[in-house]
Amino acid sequence: MIEPYKISSSLLEWYDRCARSMPWRGIRDPYKTWVSETMLQQTRVETVIPYYERFLSRFPTLKDLANANEADVLKMWEGLGYYSRARNLLKGARQVVEQFGSIVPQDPHQLRKISGIGPYTAGAIASIAYDVPVPAIDGNVLRVYSRLFGIRKSIRLPEIREKLETIASIAVPDKRAGDYNQAVMDLGATVCIPGTPDCVRCPLTSVCDAYIRGDAADLPVIPGSSPQKNISLSVPILLSGDRTLIRKRTESLLKGLWCFPLLDCRPQDLPTYLSKKFHINTVSAGESISARHVFTHLIWQMTVIPFTVEPDLPAPEGYTWSAVSELDNLAFPSAMNIPLRTVRNFFFDLK
Ligand code: SF4
Repeated sequence: MIEPYKISSSLLEWYDRCARSMPWRGIRDPYKTWVSETMLQQTRVETVIPYYERFLSRFPTLKDLANANEADVLKMWEGLGYYSRARNLLKGARQVVEQFGSIVPQDPHQLRKISGIGPYTAGAIASIAYDVPVPAIDGNVLRVYSRLFGIRKSIRLPEIREKLETIASIAVPDKRAGDYNQAVMDLGATVCIPGTPDCVRCPLTSVCDAYIRGDAADLPVIPGSSPQKNISLSVPILLSGDRTLIRKRTESLLKGLWCFPLLDCRPQDLPTYLSKKFHINTVSAGESISARHVFTHLIWQMTVIPFTVEPDLPAPEGYTWSAVSELDNLAFPSAMNIPLRTVRNFFFDLK
């Protein structure tokens, strides 16, 4: 096995030539690193860039964020998904103000005490903003190191995970730790990609165990993960005058965001269901539309159906009648894009 520290100079030289340009790079500001790394979890760089810029123009400093209310923060996060990240970021910003004198700590152990900061984000903030020589280990990094060092056992085994973490810790150079970590991230995202890596563009072929043995596409070893669960939902778009029925979610998935009714009944049973459970009598107002939203562990298969209903009805418990013109001011998850489009089209068609 190669010595981990031998890869850093080749990788940094490659990074100096090929680093991807991103608005949060080249800035030594732990708050901005924290925001960008939080947004980048499970989300592509191209998607994050406009959100990052919008978020920072609304909350330019940690104190601005700490003083914000949750609804404003969720509104800025609208469409980015995984909304618990936004809630934890807000909670964490308040914690830094209260417990750390408004200064983001540089010690990864202290960082880990802050809401929403796990081992990866702690390593990223400490190394990128403060140049502390610690690794930032995510799935991309595990893949790169598994291939480089020829780890051919499941990366879910605790002893293998520990081995990879040790390799990653030794590999981080004392100087330019942040650049080095970002170089490994870039390599994993653009060259040493899942499936078949693009080894001809890699600066590390001469030392890469998987490249030399020819089994890079088989690594890392990850035992089969469980398939996503499909959930069928009926989504009535109820238009009562200029108002529509919505609900702020209290469930952990998409908590605090607004959704149209998501009902566990067959689309053809919706009129009866709404009449019995919500005391709302409906008149069909258009064709149903299918919509699908994929989360990490489940898929919502939605049937969106527009109805008109009587004006001035009381809202069922937990629900709110909102003016259609007000919907733009509320935070909806991207899962609601098709229902939102449906209610707007439907409302303007009726006018
Ligand atoms: Fe990944 Fe290929 Fe580079 Fe090895 S040589 S680190 S497999 S891209």
